[in-house]
Amino acid sequence: MSRMKKAGVILLMVLLTGCMPSQLENKGEVSGNTITGMEKEPVISYEMPAASPTILINQFGYINESSKVAVFKGSEMPEEFYVVQEDTKERVYTGYTEDKGYNAKLQEYNGYGDFSEVTRPGTYYIEAPILGRSYSFRIGEDMYGQALKEACKQYYYSRCGVELTKEYAKEKARGACHTGKSRFREEAAVLEAAGGWHQSGDGSREVEWAARNIGALLFAYELYEEIFTDDTGIPESGNGTPDILDEIRYETDWLLKMQNEQTGAVYAGVTVCERDRGMGMVSYVEPEDIQSSKAFAMAMAKFSYFYQNYDAEYAGRCLRAAENAWRYVKRYDTAETDAWKFSAAAELYRASGRGSFHRIVLEYLEAGSYKEDLDETAFFGCIAYISTSRQVELTYCAEIAEVILTKAEEISKETRGSVYRIAGNPSGENHQELLLDMMYLTAADYMITNREYKNIIENHLHYFMGRNEMGINYADTEIMKQLDMDSKLIVMLSEMAFFAK
Ligand SMILES: [Zn+2]
Repeated sequence: MSRMKKAGVILLMVLLTGCMPSQLENKGEVSGNTITGMEKEPVISYEMPAASPTILINQFGYINESSKVAVFKGSEMPEEFYVVQEDTKERVYTGYTEDKGYNAKLQEYNGYGDFSEVTRPGTYYIEAPILGRSYSFRIGEDMYGQALKEACKQYYYSRCGVELTKEYAKEKARGACHTGKSRFREEAAVLEAAGGWHQSGDGSREVEWAARNIGALLFAYELYEEIFTDDTGIPESGNGTPDILDEIRYETDWLLKMQNEQTGAVYAGVTVCERDRGMGMVSYVEPEDIQSSKAFAMAMAKFSYFYQNYDAEYAGRCLRAAENAWRYVKRYDTAETDAWKFSAAAELYRASGRGSFHRIVLEYLEAGSYKEDLDETAFFGCIAYISTSRQVELTYCAEIAEVILTKAEEISKETRGSVYRIAGNPSGENHQELLLDMMYLTAADYMITNREYKNIIENHLHYFMGRNEMGINYADTEIMKQLDMDSKLIVMLSEMAFFAK
């Protein structure tokens, strides 16, 4: 897009709506023990294919009407390929390999097989001379909706302190865990701190990590509310509240336990570790700190804003807890406003409308450090600010929009010339980064509606779901197992599911 057009779009946006052209802003005011392992990170085991796959497809599947492209790799490229229906072994489509060429960087030949014409729902695989056959995959109507449901359900499977019953958890059913009290490290006191989502295999949970997850989940909800239904098969399904909000409330219930109500300060989290001499496990409450208090204030204010239409009383309680944490931050944080403080102030401003929060936001935006290195935390604050219907400084809104759109152009440029059509080297090690990029791209696409950005997001989904150099379904093996990645996958899937409808 030309600079002029971009500038024009931003200007139009700003003139029409304050900032984001959105249906976002229509809300009113808030009134008012079966633990395995000790690993800090989930154990990731890739099922390494016996032979490195040479026909790479999205193993989760394709929407029937979408464009479908397989990537081929090998020492030689075939002229033709076939799409085969799995049960009947019938060849339903013959295609010609496109863009065959030697890739010096990867030291292999690559080619593409477009089979978009295959639209009949079913299970298929692709086979080709020289290369062999691909994994099986499905073609169906609501593939992204199904993947989205599965991604959201990971949060339910991670619930701490509660039994997961067969009815909802199927083979992942287990008893209640970590129900004992947690100890303070420095004093002889204990805290009832069960609940929340497990961050790691041992059951530890950090407040800042929780806030990041809530930020991304609510970002997806904010853009594509209609996609988040009340029937995903969690205990709260059917209660009239979208399940994603019920799930987040499970986390905010725990976050409320992590606050010292007298001072407003927030404990950094709960760490589960092994007792001396193998005497079982013990949970410690980590000391309160300013960083966690800021993150808490952001997450609680944000949730209160979106939850007010469903339970105004609870939403009010969350907002008061956020303001209480803010008072603690204000008293002890003498440093310059950083990204967490900014995003907390932006959410508090959107939820409460108080001018003192606005002043902190403006101070940060004026300093402008986010323009150089936008990160996830600052991004949440930026989105809150450009989406609020409260009074805003339009110049800063336009600057934020410009930063996000520029970022999107950079990402888009990076995908050009990539065999797997992703932004970055296919090394398998930068998934966090790619997921974050897709979150920025989702925001940009929401602002200006760009077919190219949608394609890029979809190509990254294909990549994560198996169309990559290793032929690994990373969504299954890695991303959904780490909730802070899963929340960003949910952003991508909600966008895809929304536009597939
Ligand atoms: Zn637990």
